Amino acid sequence: MQDISGYTRGLAFASMRRFADLVAGHPDAIILTIGQPHFPTPAHIAEAAKRAIDDGFTSYTPNRGIRPLREAASAYYERFTGHRYDPDREVLVTVGTTHAIDIAVRALLAPGDEVVIPAPAYPGYEGAVRLAGGHPVFVDTRSTGFLLTPDALARAITPRTKLVILASPANPTGAVYSEDELSALARICVERDLYVLSDEIYAELQFDGSPVSASRMVGMRERTVVLHGLSKSHAMTGWRIGFAFAPEPIAAEMAKAAQFSVSCPSSISQMAALEALTNGHEDSQPMREAYRANRDLAVEALQSMGVPVVKPAGAFYVFPELPKALGMTSDAFCEALAREAHVALVSGSCFTRYGEGYVRVSLACSENALQEALERMARFVARRRQG
Ligand code: PLP
Repeated sequence: MQDISGYTRGLAFASMRRFADLVAGHPDAIILTIGQPHFPTPAHIAEAAKRAIDDGFTSYTPNRGIRPLREAASAYYERFTGHRYDPDREVLVTVGTTHAIDIAVRALLAPGDEVVIPAPAYPGYEGAVRLAGGHPVFVDTRSTGFLLTPDALARAITPRTKLVILASPANPTGAVYSEDELSALARICVERDLYVLSDEIYAELQFDGSPVSASRMVGMRERTVVLHGLSKSHAMTGWRIGFAFAPEPIAAEMAKAAQFSVSCPSSISQMAALEALTNGHEDSQPMREAYRANRDLAVEALQSMGVPVVKPAGAFYVFPELPKALGMTSDAFCEALAREAHVALVSGSCFTRYGEGYVRVSLACSENALQEALERMARFVARRRQG
């Protein structure tokens, strides 16, 4: 038999779920692993999907998604992107933001091209880059508030560098770039002729200040693919709707990749998404407020445990550093916490090697559940310190 030699061979399964598996079956288990809102999809959005089914809107759609949705997306996200992307040439509706990442890197990369990824990083980037034959270059951001600095970017660039992936707010750290920080990075990207993938899926869940898109920086519109999606902002993870905004030559290539990989996103989900972007402008507000309250609760509790934490400025995670005195790896900490306290977190090691020494706590849960989990964690940490 010939080798099974596709680019999948370079990948490992992302093992984020295994810590939740460790607490399965315990009635008092608290699972803070999942990157999924604990809110239901707003009812008016679900109703729109039901209407789509009743109206028989159940056929293939254009590869780039239905035009009214592309138009609505261009208008809705303009407040973040700062641009009116042309719905016919520069906007794609995708199968979740995951698919947008995938077709963007397929469009941009040739085999062996290097992609700079600030780390700790969301594991989806590495997977997509490797599947496109690219080579991820992780840059350690632990000592710079989990933000890529211009110096660190400049040091990571080689003649093979093609693309930089930026996320703001970021998963797993909640880090957010300011306009000045983005503009300093943008200058290097323009100078060194690099493309940027700007993952802005958590833009509506930024707690303070207004989100700034990398695409707004001087010289960046033509070299940036902006990604958005409804999974987080509208509690629609299972509907699988994301968006890509890209200059025409890149969008045209991405559309080909979409055609041959998925044909089109679900017609029913697209009608739900159209409702979200038309009448759901306020939907994310109560969610953001709940995550902000949970963030404040978690940061205070972690600080009083003596666990160092950078206060996240957006998204719904905190990413504390495990005290060295515990003498535990991230995996060992998460395994022991799951077994002894029935609290499941994600080990920082799931977010590249630069996540080692940290854990990710999801804030997408009720305040009571979070409070209880933090109390159990405090007792666990105190026991380990003594023992
Ligand atoms: N980008 C980031 C930073 C994420 O955290 C996630 C999901 O957790 C995604 C993209 C993928 O989102 P979607 O569910 O829309 O595919």
